[in-house]
Amino acid sequence: MTSPGNACTLLARKARQLPRDILLIAATFAVVLITPGADAATHGPASLKSAGNAGQRIAHADAEPQNWLSTGRTYSEAHDSPLTTIDTQNVSRLGLAWSFDLDTHRGQESTPLAVDGVLYTTSAWSKVQAFDAASGTLLWHFDPKVPGATAVKACCDVVNRGAAFWDGKIYIGTLDGRLIALNAKTGKPLWSVNTVDRTKGYTITGAPRVVRGNVLIGNGGAEQGVRGYITAYDASTGRLKWRFYTVPGEPGKMDNAASDKILAQLAERTWDGNWWSSSGGGGGGTVWDSMSYDPELDLLYIGVGNSAYWNRKYRSANRGDNLFVASIVALRPSTGEYVWHYQQTPGDQWDFTSTQNMILADLTIDGRLRKVLLQAPKNGIFYILDRATGEFLSGTPFVKINWMSGFDSQHRPIMNPKSDYGSTGEVWIGTPSQSGSHSWQPMAMNTQTGLAYIPVQDNVSIFLSDPEFKPKPLGVNVGIVTDPVKLPLTPDVLAAIKFQPTSYLLAWNPITKTEAWRAATPSVVNGGVLTTAGGLVFQGTIDGDLIAYDAVNGAKLWSFNCGSAILAAPISFAVNGRQYISLVVGWGGIYSMLGGPPAWGKTGPRTNTSRVLTFTLDGKAALPAPPEDSTPRRTAVPPAQFADVSTITMGQTAYHRTCLVCHGIATISAGGAPDLRHSATLVDGSLWRSIVADGALVNNGMVGFRENFSLREIDAIRAYVIEQARLEAGESPTVH
Ligand code: CA
Repeated sequence: MTSPGNACTLLARKARQLPRDILLIAATFAVVLITPGADAATHGPASLKSAGNAGQRIAHADAEPQNWLSTGRTYSEAHDSPLTTIDTQNVSRLGLAWSFDLDTHRGQESTPLAVDGVLYTTSAWSKVQAFDAASGTLLWHFDPKVPGATAVKACCDVVNRGAAFWDGKIYIGTLDGRLIALNAKTGKPLWSVNTVDRTKGYTITGAPRVVRGNVLIGNGGAEQGVRGYITAYDASTGRLKWRFYTVPGEPGKMDNAASDKILAQLAERTWDGNWWSSSGGGGGGTVWDSMSYDPELDLLYIGVGNSAYWNRKYRSANRGDNLFVASIVALRPSTGEYVWHYQQTPGDQWDFTSTQNMILADLTIDGRLRKVLLQAPKNGIFYILDRATGEFLSGTPFVKINWMSGFDSQHRPIMNPKSDYGSTGEVWIGTPSQSGSHSWQPMAMNTQTGLAYIPVQDNVSIFLSDPEFKPKPLGVNVGIVTDPVKLPLTPDVLAAIKFQPTSYLLAWNPITKTEAWRAATPSVVNGGVLTTAGGLVFQGTIDGDLIAYDAVNGAKLWSFNCGSAILAAPISFAVNGRQYISLVVGWGGIYSMLGGPPAWGKTGPRTNTSRVLTFTLDGKAALPAPPEDSTPRRTAVPPAQFADVSTITMGQTAYHRTCLVCHGIATISAGGAPDLRHSATLVDGSLWRSIVADGALVNNGMVGFRENFSLREIDAIRAYVIEQARLEAGESPTVH
């Protein structure tokens, strides 16, 4: 799960209303499941367009600095714009040019594209919008009509992180596993292929990339027991070209895939147990976000996600590195042939994905110019690899970490044996948390300063092997204790519960391996980053502020409150020589579990406002008022409790096994999925069953959970939610 961390900060403000055990539950879950330099005016904009091979534009993206052609702008994924019109001297004049309200209040994580005056954005439920980039006029929109029932497969909301552009087409991966090519001018579908086994927990939330005429798409679902892979499809026709599985399947069975040879030669012997089966977790290793490409070396780099199950005891008999989970793998983009890999977190048990964006740069290291790959993955270490060979050049913690203590002579991390909670059976308080020190929010690297700008989360997690773990058919399965009453309240556990997580923007010098500056951001998470040749760094906060910093020293030069939390990364582009900054605003993702941004602390959950905003110098547009809040409010008289304490406790356990991922820790929602404490269905037991057991609201994304729970448990969940509603209203807890 891409997850933010410890919700203690957010929940602390609720401390006055909620009794201690509720806070404990909330905090436990927070830690358990959350667990170039020239301007457009000086570069001929269209020189490449008529060069005969429209597909090669991304490889030469610096020749058209006015555009943002791929999710990281170029194949190097540095999120660095060469535009200079907006700079440190005039950024104070930045104002809103236009805004567009999206049709959803679900989470927004998309990095836009800008191509020849058209801005392409994606939004929750895998929808695509095309705008006249200067005026904001909607040119077309596309809804792939993802079935609502798909939502239960998404660990972290029905988000989408962006589209790909190639030769007059826009490509989108949909939550239910399709890859769709659209005509970039009209939005009309050209072809669509299903990329996944729909009987399993696969989803797509990441942006496709297009390399040498192949559209590359991975998928997510490691928390749902899937086996990860990446597939290449012909960009013109959608024909499958190759597939590379990142983890081995059942021993002795070939996939007839590009990965067959390397999995048999190298990976399979690093696994044990029955990882490939539904009782073993499926292996995980999903390629759910990050890819980079070096056109000169002709190497494609993929970031591979965490293991499934998290707990190695239940997937691999407490043994093995489990290749290629938590690794960077280099492949030939034409064939999918394996070239090299580096595993960052051998035997991962902590949701330490290596799926954070990988930046390609040429750096002089120890007097030698090296082609390097830079990544700051969840595990808290800033890696520099030689991207031609995979050689490890350095690994430097950029936050406090305790899962390893250094590297051995083979550049393998020296693991802290206490972190192996699957083997020890003891509680492990890990930092970073499973949310990671850096999640999917893109970091950026500025060509001029040579600094990487990382959205950092500093937090801890409590891991304890669940001795009674049994996978459920629906929702997440990770193999660790998710029922707070099973946690021993040792001083360490209590300290972890009380830990105050923070987030900040970190400017990191990869050459000196030191911090250049940092800027504190509110609460536990912050947004993706853009940097520009105007000497600026742009980042949003979950209080809704889009902030411009001086890239050299971190001085705060400008900010604008966008009216809702910002998680996604901004981009910059130019039309007719005028430079713009665009981003998609909106709260959600896994962060819905946290109970809402701090700015909502005074008013409680409210409907999230999802918008596309575009800024330019002297922009004078006004931010529209937020739409009317449609969140059901707390009722003065909460429903009567119908159950006894043991039933409420049963409901609490069941709720925190499955429901919290969408509805929030301890039933405190952030407005994405409803706050159940305020639901009118609480008073009607048969209506509750029709929804929770039978799926009456499946089109909204709420499937029926009969497969997971008995009717007795489903009724008990209602009792638990009623109890939470009563506590919120100031009633005394039910006692016997
Ligand atoms: Ca994960």
